Amino acid sequence: MAKKNITVIGSINMDLVTKTEQVPMMGETLLGEAFYTIPGGKGANQAVAAARLGAEVSMIGCVGDDPFGRELLAHLGRESIHTDAIKVVAEVSTGIASITLSGGDNSIIVVPGANYHVTPEFVAGHEELIAASDIILLQLEIPMESVEMASSIAKKYNVKVILNPAPFQPIPDRLLENADYFTPNEHEQKLLLSHDWSEEKRESFLRKCIVTQGEKGVSIFSGTQIDIPGYKVKAIDTTGAGDTFNGALAYSLSEGMGLSEACRFANAAAALSVTKLGAQGGMPTKFEVNEFLR
Ligand code: ATP
Repeated sequence: MAKKNITVIGSINMDLVTKTEQVPMMGETLLGEAFYTIPGGKGANQAVAAARLGAEVSMIGCVGDDPFGRELLAHLGRESIHTDAIKVVAEVSTGIASITLSGGDNSIIVVPGANYHVTPEFVAGHEELIAASDIILLQLEIPMESVEMASSIAKKYNVKVILNPAPFQPIPDRLLENADYFTPNEHEQKLLLSHDWSEEKRESFLRKCIVTQGEKGVSIFSGTQIDIPGYKVKAIDTTGAGDTFNGALAYSLSEGMGLSEACRFANAAAALSVTKLGAQGGMPTKFEVNEFLR
């Protein structure tokens, strides 16, 4: 059977991680312990999660014309992701997240850089790719108008839309209508529901909601609420658990699984991902998920 096509329209970042005992005050210089660069960005993370499971994944996004951009393009290629629709933008930096880890806490500065060059016009330029997809996967680390544009094109061609509404931002009406599934975590769901929505809009949002709840698992709100408990695993690093869940959900739905079965599969993939270090480091293959579920 032909592999199913998933297109991710979203962010591509390099995470710059500094480990330090102490965080410097403004104007102070300190020696840190260690420094790593790790590929990240919600869009790229979710693309890698779906590709590891065996989906045919394309990514629409932008990187800067700099060493991080070139490294990330090569990295996505090595993960078997189609990168033809990733544009290299001159005179802007690749998106980065500068993360300071200190005593179990972290502080983060995100510079979107090239990710904000994923304009609605740029997305519209890839209409054919979106039209040929079985599912598109969206997050909110590119301009909201571009996310709306992608969802509208997908609807025009009857392509399913998953929106991971992270980081939190109010969801415009067009996106509320176009998305087939919303995948907030508990915190994002609470923020979204605190909106001044009419009862009808609130209902429409809830009916499409699949809420991830960390180690507790996931709840589906369409029709009657279905709670799918989390798998008990030894958690080493939960970074990217949500991204693994979303990539795996896109994969399992594209393979034709029903919603509950798809969520169970994604729940297992996400549980496996927290047993290893790094957002992408722990993302499992289909074989690993099937072995885990045996
Ligand atoms: P992150 O921002 O760290 O990527 P998130 O807040 O978006 O995560 P969570 O709800 O914390 O998302 O986790 C997503 C999914 O990952 C959960 O629904 C569950 O399937 C799995 N998961 C997360 N943490 C654990 C854990 N400790 N044990 C088992 N499964 C987990």
